Amino acid sequence: MATVAQEIKCSHCGAPIEFKPGEIVATCKYCGFTTVIETGQAYTFEHSLILNKFDQKTIDEPIHDWMNGGFLKPGDLAKKSKLTDRDLIYLPFWVVNVEAKSTYKGIFERIAPAIVKEGTISKEYDWLDLARAASGFPTHEYMVPLEGKIPFDFRKIEGFAKLLNSEMTQDAALEIAKQQIEDHHRFLLQQDVDKIVEIKTEFTAKQIVYLHAPVWFIKYEYKGKIYQLIVEGTGGTALKGDIPPSRF
Ligand SMILES: [Zn+2]
Repeated sequence: MATVAQEIKCSHCGAPIEFKPGEIVATCKYCGFTTVIETGQAYTFEHSLILNKFDQKTIDEPIHDWMNGGFLKPGDLAKKSKLTDRDLIYLPFWVVNVEAKSTYKGIFERIAPAIVKEGTISKEYDWLDLARAASGFPTHEYMVPLEGKIPFDFRKIEGFAKLLNSEMTQDAALEIAKQQIEDHHRFLLQQDVDKIVEIKTEFTAKQIVYLHAPVWFIKYEYKGKIYQLIVEGTGGTALKGDIPPSRF
């Protein structure tokens, strides 16, 4: 199915804002103004940006570090690889700042006789949701350096970079965060109880921030095959990488 880009006019500068089906929040590439597509209204919440620290040359350094590190990789990987694609993409995220308090009841069976345990887990999170529907992006490997975020500034987006729009509403982001946090609490509870009988989680959402963060999508060729590597653009940490099989 062909994806047809549609257009609305930026209510701030009048330039056309292109967006694709499924996109819900769009940012004008000429002035940085952000609009909710359905309503055409300005997006009135906080929109932040994490700065990218690399260019298309300096990104090679963390890539080579990744290739040279770790004993599972072929020894000549850095030397014999050719970087074919270095694409900088600003990915859209929702950062949900929320307090979550789970009250639970469970059964502790590890020692006989089994006993019933009750308790609470109470934590505060900056929970990260990738605002794109389809993606193999490893969101949970990605520790976004939130302390480095600045108000969104379109002038900081490099000409060669691409900015993706959100395909998720703020409300949907909150629902996903709630569900994932409760799952996370269930996971944490495995230390305390062997069977969860009841769990109820109360959430207090304090703030939801729309955020663009720089991620490099790298392709490299090694011995005639193409592999992928994903590197975050703040510290140059590899988030996910295909490793060619090594012949020891
Ligand atoms: Zn504009």
